Amino acid sequence: MMRRGANLPSIGEFNQSVVLDAIRLSPGGVSRVEIAAQTGLSSQTVTNVARRLIAAGLIREGERLASGPGKPRTSMHLVPGARTAIGIHLDPSFITYTVVDLAGSVIARASTATPRVVSPDDVIESMARSVDALVDDAGIDRGQLLGIGIAAPGPLDLEAGTVNNPPLLDGWDDVALRDALGRALDLPAILEKDVTSATVGELWSSHDADRDDFAVFYLGTGVGLGLALDHSVRRGATSNLGDIGHVRVSDRGAICRCGNSGCLGDNIAPARLVRAAAERGVIALPDLSDHVSVAQAYAAVGEAARRDERAHTLVAEMAADIATAVVTIANMLDLSDIVFSGAFWNHISDVALPEIRRRVGDSRAYMLPHALRVSTSSLGADATAVGAGCQVLSSAFAPSDAQLVPRALA
Ligand SMILES: [Zn+2]
Repeated sequence: MMRRGANLPSIGEFNQSVVLDAIRLSPGGVSRVEIAAQTGLSSQTVTNVARRLIAAGLIREGERLASGPGKPRTSMHLVPGARTAIGIHLDPSFITYTVVDLAGSVIARASTATPRVVSPDDVIESMARSVDALVDDAGIDRGQLLGIGIAAPGPLDLEAGTVNNPPLLDGWDDVALRDALGRALDLPAILEKDVTSATVGELWSSHDADRDDFAVFYLGTGVGLGLALDHSVRRGATSNLGDIGHVRVSDRGAICRCGNSGCLGDNIAPARLVRAAAERGVIALPDLSDHVSVAQAYAAVGEAARRDERAHTLVAEMAADIATAVVTIANMLDLSDIVFSGAFWNHISDVALPEIRRRVGDSRAYMLPHALRVSTSSLGADATAVGAGCQVLSSAFAPSDAQLVPRALA
């Protein structure tokens, strides 16, 4: 769905973001006439806005298109490198750093294991050093950096910018991550729940006009759901939307900390797959209390599942549990798409994706009159970090979604 503009002078800034969106989503270039038709803006408004965007260096004019009657049309193109943003994903197992440009493309990246048994202050300090190193190594112009987007596991207090004791991040109780990192790097910072950032990344990078109502099924060290309805990301009352860990998906499984058994989060937890694979002799049992060792073992199980029957069965069982949750969620929200994302997804997707598609297709609980599209995020393993960076761009250019406007653009 293309956002529609309005021809009132008082909301010029909104129109600026509408026009920039239209150009951003047309990598092959788009003419003023086409933008006017897509957005409902008058051609005079489009021309005025385009002039401002060109002056700000955000777009450029391309070749003249002489086809058809009337004046030749000049195509307009995004200048992707005109502004950049830093996107960081803090997962209990690893921290991913990206620099993204206006097109949402990654121009630099790095990742490290999340340090254990140190204070969050030390982690934040090392995060700041990692960002500095990344920006310097990649030769990023600091004057064009709009800010930092940080994606972290919930629960979060977005107003205070704090991380409030996520189940898998020991010692992160009421930590002012946003302000501490923003201060350390002297840049405006946004904090967002990981699944929400992943969803923003999908919205920012998706050229699929039909993808308006979708969920991002997120497999990190924990599991979560990000949601977009009517092409807008949803956050809920306290921006903590998407905890699906205790959705009951089967009769089997250990007793969850909530007291039930068969909870999605427990059933598909990386440590659970790794332990089961070790019990069946697929891999050696790693230290299950160490997230990094578990992540490495999980990758090995995913790799083995392509040819080892025992590993394949374990991943297929996980896929069955995921499919049960997918059907419930899609029914409840009338979704058109489920997009799988998160660093742990990519290790199992070869086996899990076809299995989930098959099970959703066969499910007698599936109630929607349309087929559900089930796919893997095109943003790859860095999707959440990229989304956090896109969120900074989105906040800068889309007043409707504004949480901060780091800098005047023109
Ligand atoms: Zn539970």
